Amino acid sequence: MNEENIKLIKEIEKYAEEYDIPIMMKSGIDFLTNFVKENNIKTILEVGTAIGYSSIMMALVDPNIKIKTIERDEKRYLEAIKNIKKFSLEDRITLIFNDASLVNIEEKYDLVFIDAAKGQNINFFNKFSSNLNNNGFIVTDNINFHGLVDKDLEDIKSRNLRGLIRKIQDYTKFLKENKEYKTVFYDIGDGISISSKNN
Ligand code: MG
Repeated sequence: MNEENIKLIKEIEKYAEEYDIPIMMKSGIDFLTNFVKENNIKTILEVGTAIGYSSIMMALVDPNIKIKTIERDEKRYLEAIKNIKKFSLEDRITLIFNDASLVNIEEKYDLVFIDAAKGQNINFFNKFSSNLNNNGFIVTDNINFHGLVDKDLEDIKSRNLRGLIRKIQDYTKFLKENKEYKTVFYDIGDGISISSKNN
């Protein structure tokens, strides 16, 4: 990455911290971009753009990578547009402003990256697995959910948070029991899973 890009990436990281935008952890994004590189991934569907950080980082891996990314929060979507422009990646990253559960996509992708509303993971997996190339991967972020998934649920005071943690645990169970896909879990960043079709 050139110096100008490094500077711009740092600005996005700073903005995310300041406005409490959940972008990927450093070790997680390094893992993801390496994965994209090593598996020669060229087409990506991302569920949950936030402010465009992971899209931009993945696009910078290779000039032939194309990404479609979906975000339902208007403020984040507008910020993502600005950020993608700064890197002149408008021709390679296509943004969709909508709730991903309402978006229907025809094309197939080498990678589907799920990093959106955590309670929707199972729905997004089922919905967008039909957009996966035969040898493609579904990657999901925040499998550990800030380490909270290992905690005793009774120790967590917020009922909403308990519900969310339960849903992430259900997602892990769903992946483990899924006969169509093989999933490997990585204790990297905030916990990342990689699922591939059993051919
Ligand atoms: Mg995330």
